[in-house]
Amino acid sequence: MRAAESPRTGTVAEIAGRLRREVRVLAVSHEAPDGDALGCLSAFLLMCGRLGIPCEGYIPGESALPPEYLFLPQVKDVRRGTAPSVEPETTVYFFDCASLLRSNSHEFLAEAARINIDHHADNPGFGDFNLVDPAAPSTTAILYEVFKAGGFPLDAEVATALYVGLVTDTGRFQYANTTPYAHHMAAALQEAGVDVSWVYRQVYESTPLPKLMLLERALSHLEVRLGGALAVSWLSNEDFVKAGADEGHAEGLIDTLRRIHGVRVAALLREKVSEGRIQTKVSLRSTDGSLNVAELAHKRGGGGHARAAGFTSDEGVSAVLAWIEREVETAL
Ligand code: AMP
Ligand code: MN
Ligand code: MN
Repeated sequence: MRAAESPRTGTVAEIAGRLRREVRVLAVSHEAPDGDALGCLSAFLLMCGRLGIPCEGYIPGESALPPEYLFLPQVKDVRRGTAPSVEPETTVYFFDCASLLRSNSHEFLAEAARINIDHHADNPGFGDFNLVDPAAPSTTAILYEVFKAGGFPLDAEVATALYVGLVTDTGRFQYANTTPYAHHMAAALQEAGVDVSWVYRQVYESTPLPKLMLLERALSHLEVRLGGALAVSWLSNEDFVKAGADEGHAEGLIDTLRRIHGVRVAALLREKVSEGRIQTKVSLRSTDGSLNVAELAHKRGGGGHARAAGFTSDEGVSAVLAWIEREVETAL
């Protein structure tokens, strides 16, 4: 049932205690899911299975999931498209969702209690219980703490799913969120049975050819602007068709833009057809932290982290690109 009290911050122990008593749960993450979103769902659904709790997963949107994460247990069975109807005794667990809108959850909020587990600093605390820790390197790190607090069994499968969120959100332990804690957690997960090089093969060395073809097209549109500080590229609908690729293949392509010498901000724009309308989906990255890209994304109704953020616009690619260039020029 929906918690009677006003929204509040929960502790990992409280959330673990609550999870143990759940009648039924729905696990939700954000549209266009990444390794952290899918790692959370996989680990959580596996754990609910171990604890005997009836559970289902849901991700809004219809776009194909990034193929590099399909090896994670439970992920292929996650419901897509319209949100499932939820009985009053169901608790909805949100993972890695900076805002309610991104989880499309306004469609099923009426009855169920909401638990909000996330590491985005701009998360407004939309849950009845909120476990939001911007210092956590990934949302799987917070989930890992919940499992530890509950004394839940951490087997190799669950540990692997948690590890995928950690390794991808930290850029393979290279981004600024790679804290000593991140390394300690990785060590503990490895001790629990994660085969690190096998995960590496699945996530980074199983790239479908269409994804590389899409990268080729993104590189063919690559421009560096503002004296080399801003790297931009874009992918049109036609690029996706010609590469034989879908939105899931765009995951991580921006990492190639951010590598360029001297680049401080990277932007990758892609055309997205949704309900017959063309929209532009934007990924933003700050390499050195000198510009807070989440603040930029907020101006256009998006969100994210200081160094990795995004938004979706009804404007076309060139108009959005011009806006980004103006904003970055003013800010840097
Ligand atoms: P992406 O560029 O899609 O990999 O997303 C980078 C970061 O920005 C992630 O933390 C996302 O959750 C966040 N993000 C991307 N798009 C949006 C959006 N439209 N609204 C809010 N947050 C977003
Ligand atoms: Mn995410
Ligand atoms: Mn995350």
